Amino acid sequence: MSDLSRPKPTGLLFIVSAPSGAGKTSLVKALVERDPELVLSVSCTTRPARTGEQDGVHYHFLDRARFEREIAEGAFLEHAEVFGNRYGTRAADVRQCLDAGQDVILEIDWQGARQVRERFPESIGLFVLPPSIAELERRLRGRGTDSDAVIARRMTQAHDELAHFAEYAYLVVNDCFETALAALAAIVTAERQRLAHQRPRLAALLDSIESIH
Ligand code: GDP
Ligand code: ADP
Ligand code: 5GP
Repeated sequence: MSDLSRPKPTGLLFIVSAPSGAGKTSLVKALVERDPELVLSVSCTTRPARTGEQDGVHYHFLDRARFEREIAEGAFLEHAEVFGNRYGTRAADVRQCLDAGQDVILEIDWQGARQVRERFPESIGLFVLPPSIAELERRLRGRGTDSDAVIARRMTQAHDELAHFAEYAYLVVNDCFETALAALAAIVTAERQRLAHQRPRLAALLDSIESIH
């Protein structure tokens, strides 16, 4: 096969969801730090930045008018309302990384995950579970970033998010952090070895093998 007629290698699209407080942000941050091939998509949100959060790093912080304008322009791959704020993933950012052959990880809620699955049926869903509901609440409180009222609301919504675990291919329990991190890394590694993913990447080797017969 000539180089031009070969499908171009494109990156894998991973979706990570979890109830707020399960540890997905900490896990994904650690995963991306140890895997240079994996790029974390920076979401847009209308919620105010928490102490320590930087615009363009943790989120693109947009006001509601700007967010709605981008929806009207069709800029979002997916968007959803979570805890009374809007969250969304810009399609162009994801497309650009995938086309460049980079693997992308989205940290989004179940509503967004559904929308992404429709546009990218080959995306890989991972759901992070807390070891228990009591531990989930302890972590939300321990994080110290949210008021009691916000925590109460997030706990109610945690049940909604948890109800969607069966829509994901993988379930990872975040009890021991290092064990959960190793599980996530193993999933990423395994998905990269799939035949469909390897074929365009190993074209020269596979051609040489096929030419033997
Ligand atoms: P945390 O998960 O408790 O740290 O809270 P965040 O404010 O970071 O996220 C709030 C909710 O919005 C979570 O359910 C996220 O999964 C979801 N979320 C974050 N970014 C996106 C996004 O780009 N799209 C969608 N659909 N949901 C998002
Ligand atoms: P999420 O992004 O799902 O809301 P975070 O990553 O912000 O969750 O984690 C919530 C809190 O729980 C943070 O304070 C974090 O340090 C803590 N945490 C995360 N994973 C673990 C774990 N395995 N054991 C104990 N605490 C954890
Ligand atoms: P937080 O406000 O605590 O940063 O995030 C709350 C929730 O919003 C998390 O469960 C997170 O997964 C979700 N979230 C963050 N970014 C996005 C996004 O771009 N799209 C969607 N759908 N959800 C998001």
